[in-house]
Amino acid sequence: MGLIVELIHKKRCAKELTFTELKTLITGLLDGTVADYQMSAFLMAVCCNGMTDEETFSLTKVMLESGKILDFKNPHCIDKHSTGGIGDKASFILAPIAAACGISVPMVAGRGLGHTGGTIDKIESIPGFRTGLSLEEFSAQLKIDKIVLMGQTEDIAPADRRIYALRDVTATVESIPLITASILSKKLAEGASGIVMDIKVGQGAFMSNMSDAKKLAQSLIRVSKKFGKKMTVLLTDMNQPLGNCIGNSIELVESVETLQNKGPHDLTELSLILAAEMVLLGKKAKNYNDAYKKCRQVLENGEALKVFYHLIEKQGGDVKFVKNLSLLKNAEDKTIITASKSGHIHKILNREIGELLVTLGGGRTKTGEAIDFSVGMICHKKIGDAVKIGEALMTIYHHSAQKKLLQNLASYFLIKPQKTKRLPLVYQTIRGK
Ligand code: URA
Repeated sequence: MGLIVELIHKKRCAKELTFTELKTLITGLLDGTVADYQMSAFLMAVCCNGMTDEETFSLTKVMLESGKILDFKNPHCIDKHSTGGIGDKASFILAPIAAACGISVPMVAGRGLGHTGGTIDKIESIPGFRTGLSLEEFSAQLKIDKIVLMGQTEDIAPADRRIYALRDVTATVESIPLITASILSKKLAEGASGIVMDIKVGQGAFMSNMSDAKKLAQSLIRVSKKFGKKMTVLLTDMNQPLGNCIGNSIELVESVETLQNKGPHDLTELSLILAAEMVLLGKKAKNYNDAYKKCRQVLENGEALKVFYHLIEKQGGDVKFVKNLSLLKNAEDKTIITASKSGHIHKILNREIGELLVTLGGGRTKTGEAIDFSVGMICHKKIGDAVKIGEALMTIYHHSAQKKLLQNLASYFLIKPQKTKRLPLVYQTIRGK
């Protein structure tokens, strides 16, 4: 048996692999001596048999060390990561809030993935905004401005790119150790001293049940601790869109309105909660209540909005698009979906809303596809709301030729006669020791 086959066999027999063995596999994948089919077999064995904490740590370390690693050595430098959801634009709000409270925020964000949108796609709806910074520009801007936003580069955890592409097509995405290593290999490279992790749970999230979300939270906390990084995990709801708007430029408009303190309650509140956890983790507050108060203050006095305008200008964006939001145009046609009966909203097909956006061109079905920034929707109701027959449930901005794609959308909202409870924003906060 060749060495690589032996390693795959060892994992197939549920045995623990050493750091050196994992390094052999991953470096082999990158230099071409391990074939994609061998790595796929290994990933399937991990998926079926799991990994110990020590193995997950070693895998993360090998993947992290496959690229460049920044370290700002700054206890006030805190990053935030969301596992992704529908209408999740909280980064645009919480990052300027945290920066206005004295936190340095190095954001390396992603593009849309499947039915979930991406921060980088949304911000690129502002003409001129540069997301393709070099790591040198990224570091320099962070030091001066305390806030910087760029897309993932080839330099950060290249092993994750290769492995993620294989997982995507071999049914090996849903594995706690593989997700842990994938997320942390990228996040740990960004040089922050702590990370606030927003794990979305629910119908529109990539973790649909609470028990898996909790296992992922514990795994992330245990492994980041082994790297000496502090982590706070929040398990937050994704059974309905966050805020009201779903799309690219339309989400940016809602983000600016929220920074003007005129945003929807759920988006404002979750952004403040996440920002407060960043301020607490970054030692800029005595306790959580103090952190939350500071965050609310910079939102209400307009300091966070100023930080956002500065970020846009600094990275080459045309700031008049965020100062005059009517310049961020929606697609030319508007369709309003109305309720066919009166009652209360019990369920929203959240994932399907995300998929509809992709179908309209606001997301991708293949990497590298162009995005249509102008299509999007407004969701007028939340779970627990009362609704009357004929009342608007959703407004969709689309192109004329897309009208036929908008059949049967009222069925995305399950309406029943009896009342039902509103959903919590945050299910649990776990602060790593
Ligand atoms: N996000 C990542 O970056 N990696 C995963 O494996 C899952 C979500």
